Amino acid sequence: MTAVEPGGVPAPVGAPVLAAEDVWKAFGEREVLRGVSVSLAAHEVVALIGASGSGKSTLLRCLGLLEPIDDGRIFLGDEDISDPRVDGNRVRARLGAVFQSYNLFPHLTVLGNVTLASRVVHKVPRKDAEARALALLERVGLADFANAHPDRLSGGQQQRVAIVRAIATDPEVLLLDEITSALDPELVGEVLDLVRSLAEGGATILMATHEMAFARDVADRVLFLDEGVIVEEGAPAQLFTAPAHARTKAFLTRFT
Ligand code: ADP
Ligand code: MG
Repeated sequence: MTAVEPGGVPAPVGAPVLAAEDVWKAFGEREVLRGVSVSLAAHEVVALIGASGSGKSTLLRCLGLLEPIDDGRIFLGDEDISDPRVDGNRVRARLGAVFQSYNLFPHLTVLGNVTLASRVVHKVPRKDAEARALALLERVGLADFANAHPDRLSGGQQQRVAIVRAIATDPEVLLLDEITSALDPELVGEVLDLVRSLAEGGATILMATHEMAFARDVADRVLFLDEGVIVEEGAPAQLFTAPAHARTKAFLTRFT
């Protein structure tokens, strides 16, 4: 949720939940993130758009402590999680992440997948973890699959399970990386509907996406990443209809 200021640009409300300050990341000689700053307010839904190779996944992976950064700082709440002394596992346990490819554990049932982190990382008793998982699966219409293995599910169902798994531990932020781009077109809607309901339920979400119509509809703010730099950000209505930068314009033309 954001407050809209007179200029029509949404301003984050309250202290940021997640904030990156001047983050740099290179792979070998290649500078992939070149001074990226991002801030997410509580309950804010931010869409990250940009061409393939612009650094979206790298940014999400850095924010999720799945990739070390070269320079800059990342805060989760008021904790500097980029401090090398920080326990990464403890921090990752406070985040939820879903990626493009369904990364469910094939040898575990749906229920096993959804309860794993609660049980192993958060030490929630099995009975409680399963009760919560079943309630969540019920909510997204997948309770019937609780005891099935992932290969019995469609791609859309697997991605919904991956989302349920990510929210099962009540993460402070959800990082979603093009979670519909590996899906058959007819399965995209059910996954986006779930993201929409999480957004409406107050989740704090940063999502890399090529679903421009969805971003426009659901995001409070859109960031356009180009060659490792956020060249433009704004409310969807502004950025999609009247982009300020030529590069944003050129990118959007290819998508609309
Ligand atoms: P996007 O998600 O926007 O498509 P990525 O963050 O995946 O962009 O990639 C940005 C650039 O970083 C690409 O040139 C990619 O090849 C490179 N890259 C990403 N991950 C690695 C890695 N682990 N090792 C080397 N290069 C990488
Ligand atoms: Mg990517």
